[in-house]
Amino acid sequence: MKNYDAVIIGGGPAGCTAGLYCSRAGLKSLLIERGAVGGQIANASLVDNYPGFPQGVSGSELASLMHQQAARYDLEIVTADVTDITQEDSYVISTSEGSFGAEALIVAAGSEYRTLQVPGEGRLSGHGVSYCATCDGFFFRNKTVAVIGGGDTAITDALELGQHASKVYVVHRRDELRAGKALQQRAFAHPKLEFVWSNVVEEVLGDTVVRGIRLRNAKTGLESVLDVDGVFVAVGITPNSQIFSHMLECDADGSIVTDGTMSTPSAGVFAAGDIRRNSPRQVSTAVGDGATAAMSAFKYLKERE
Ligand code: NAP
Repeated sequence: MKNYDAVIIGGGPAGCTAGLYCSRAGLKSLLIERGAVGGQIANASLVDNYPGFPQGVSGSELASLMHQQAARYDLEIVTADVTDITQEDSYVISTSEGSFGAEALIVAAGSEYRTLQVPGEGRLSGHGVSYCATCDGFFFRNKTVAVIGGGDTAITDALELGQHASKVYVVHRRDELRAGKALQQRAFAHPKLEFVWSNVVEEVLGDTVVRGIRLRNAKTGLESVLDVDGVFVAVGITPNSQIFSHMLECDADGSIVTDGTMSTPSAGVFAAGDIRRNSPRQVSTAVGDGATAAMSAFKYLKERE
């Protein structure tokens, strides 16, 4: 089994940054990623809010640049599925490509947006269907959009979209919101927001771009069509934390609990990016988390020497 000072799980912005910082600090480091390096941003047509790119940058290009930079300083990168983690003297990470030992572990495995699982959603993702209002809201200037969901994210997204769009429908499957009261009050007072209660999305309509959504009233069963240019799905996220849940403290939705140094209560284990509790889920914050986690791992290893 090959042993490392630091093993990073996940190759999105948080993981790539942690890998860059660990290897530049002289730690023998390995990054394990199950798919293409880049994480969720690899699917974003344009990342317009990451500093340093005044014209914006495609998600795949940004992912590739981060990958290249991370690999510059002897960071080893392996494509493998992590199947188990155990703690002996150090951590043992079992993967589809064999086992690796780590003195410090940085968990940056990200999260997945929950999807509606309706026809048209996948096909029009990136063509009017979005899961991130902060990332994509600007593209819907003076357009009509719908936000799906009734939680804090949906209402925060709807308020943010109200700054760009001419009209924002909030489509919720029940007749009361899950979001906090203060957010609700702001949303109800907002002139551009209109609530469509007790309706579920049956289909996202449009050939090459979104043209509307087909709804079904959950109480009456009646169907209707809402004409919109964009659909922002905000029905929650699922952190990719299942394989860590036996060893790390997770909150109710599965996010890993860390302190401000990205340390978890387990000695030598750090978490960064979307997978950690209270993550703002932005590329820029994930990058900051990755740097912080790597610096904390470095400090932990030096203090143990
Ligand atoms: P959430 O609280 O789980 O809310 C998800 C919403 O989507 C709920 O309203 C739910 O409806 C609805 N939903 C779920 N599955 C659906 C489906 N298949 N079809 C239609 N609707 C569906 O998720 P979240 O809003 O992303 O928030 C996650 C966590 O982050 C929460 O702890 C939240 O407080 C926190 N957060 C806080 C802020 C803030 O403080 N500003 C901002 C964002 C997130 P039901 O209500 O009927 O279950």
